[in-house]
Amino acid sequence: MDRTEVVIVGSGFGALAAAKKLAKAGKPFVLISETTEHLFQPLLYQVATGVIAAGEIAPSVRAILAKYPHADVRLGRVVDVNPEEKELVYEAAGQRHTLGYNSVVAATGARQSYFGRDEFAKVTFALKTVDDAERLRDQIVRCFEEAHTTSDLERRKNLLSFIVIGAGATGVELAGQIKELAARYFEQSIRGITAADVTVTLVEGAGVAMPAYGGKLSEYTKASLEKSGVEVVLNTLVTDIDEDGATLVAHGSEAGERRTANTIIWSAGVQANDFAAVLAERTGCETDRAGRLLVNRDLTVGGRADIFAVGDMTSLDNLPGQSPVAMQGGRHVADTILGKTLRGTPFKFRDKGSMAIINRFRAVTKVKNIELTGTFAWVLWLAVHMVYLVGFRNRYVAVMSWFGSFLGNRRPHFYYAQEVGPIVTPDARIPETKPAEPATAAA
Ligand SMILES: Cc1cc2nc3c(=O)[nH]c(=O)nc-3n(C[C@H](O)[C@H](O)[C@H](O)COP(=O)(O)OP(=O)(O)OC[C@H]3O[C@@H](n4cnc5c(N)ncnc54)[C@H](O)[C@@H]3O)c2cc1C
Repeated sequence: MDRTEVVIVGSGFGALAAAKKLAKAGKPFVLISETTEHLFQPLLYQVATGVIAAGEIAPSVRAILAKYPHADVRLGRVVDVNPEEKELVYEAAGQRHTLGYNSVVAATGARQSYFGRDEFAKVTFALKTVDDAERLRDQIVRCFEEAHTTSDLERRKNLLSFIVIGAGATGVELAGQIKELAARYFEQSIRGITAADVTVTLVEGAGVAMPAYGGKLSEYTKASLEKSGVEVVLNTLVTDIDEDGATLVAHGSEAGERRTANTIIWSAGVQANDFAAVLAERTGCETDRAGRLLVNRDLTVGGRADIFAVGDMTSLDNLPGQSPVAMQGGRHVADTILGKTLRGTPFKFRDKGSMAIINRFRAVTKVKNIELTGTFAWVLWLAVHMVYLVGFRNRYVAVMSWFGSFLGNRRPHFYYAQEVGPIVTPDARIPETKPAEPATAAA
């Protein structure tokens, strides 16, 4: 039977961090992922708004690991694990394969959560994958193009209305960018449409924008968005969504307010991907309400010393679902497997701070007790993201795109989308997702 020393599941931040450490130490491993790219999710909103191309933030993981002779990258979906036999089952090109291992590192991340209202997926846009970002980008272009030509004023208003649900970093960044797009790109390139014609509404259930920050940074975020023309609606839940709009209900109010918009973007919550449930069942590990594995302090799963999980599919000490947590977790696990860290050593997260961009020249940054806002925070954001973008080629191409968009009025990557088709119907927006494969025992 096919065997390897370590199987890494996923090709995101956690998986790649573990893979690089193992690869540099010459440890043989197989990395199995259902996507061929290593996706830099924090910049997906820039793909959706035409600033950069998907290829600039999604280098091939095979190419990244090509120089390491003991790294074997396979495109496939892991569907099961048998801890007693130390075997993992994955599907590739329609076939099932079984792979024996000594250790597993799972880093399968998370997907959108609709809090029990999965029907919202069909009438909203999401931002989790390259496909999501390109779908949203095409929708934005189509809305502006059709608004330019339609003689139906009601339809025009609807086309130029955008609702973003969830005022975390993704929602804030998207809302800010869509408004900026209207003012600094479409107003110049489409005659008759001004920024004032475009409505962007950001809805948040909590009482502040970017609740993860709170205080001065949340206030600055709200004020900056409002200054740019984004309507920020706080303390409000979205109770219904259809293809023409959403119903907003303020806390303490019985009545809902109907808002119409052709584009509704959901960025309100996440839940662990399916493999977390498989691991929970097979190892006896508990999960939280979002399906995330309640891993042990050393990042092992359930009663298994040879199965580790890191990143967004896990929950430990309320650590945020952010890339540094996944990367540091991946490195900790790799060190444990390599014997550089003693078995059982607890994972310690080193918080180097977090940041989010609001719009051009405005960002917020928090490093321990230091809070920064405005242009300085924005420059810091730019510098940090340049450093973290994987692959030199991508880094330089992305920087050129940023200069074009932030200093000039260019949105180079809208050109690809400008072969305008009809506005997508809600059902066509999201392809039917296949139900999760039932977990079957490994052969
Ligand atoms: C729009 C957006 C903006 C964000 N902005 C920021 C930010 O500004 N700063 C920040 O720190 N974090 C940000 N995050 C969060 C950050 O991207 C995540 O915390 C990070 O990606 C988690 O890494 P991970 O390795 O756990 O999972 P991911 O990076 O999501 O990787 C999961 C991998 O698992 C693969 N996979 C899933 N299931 C299977 C399976 N069954 N078999 C094989 N492969 C599988 C997927 O294809 C993928 O490669 C953002 C996220 C999003 C969506």
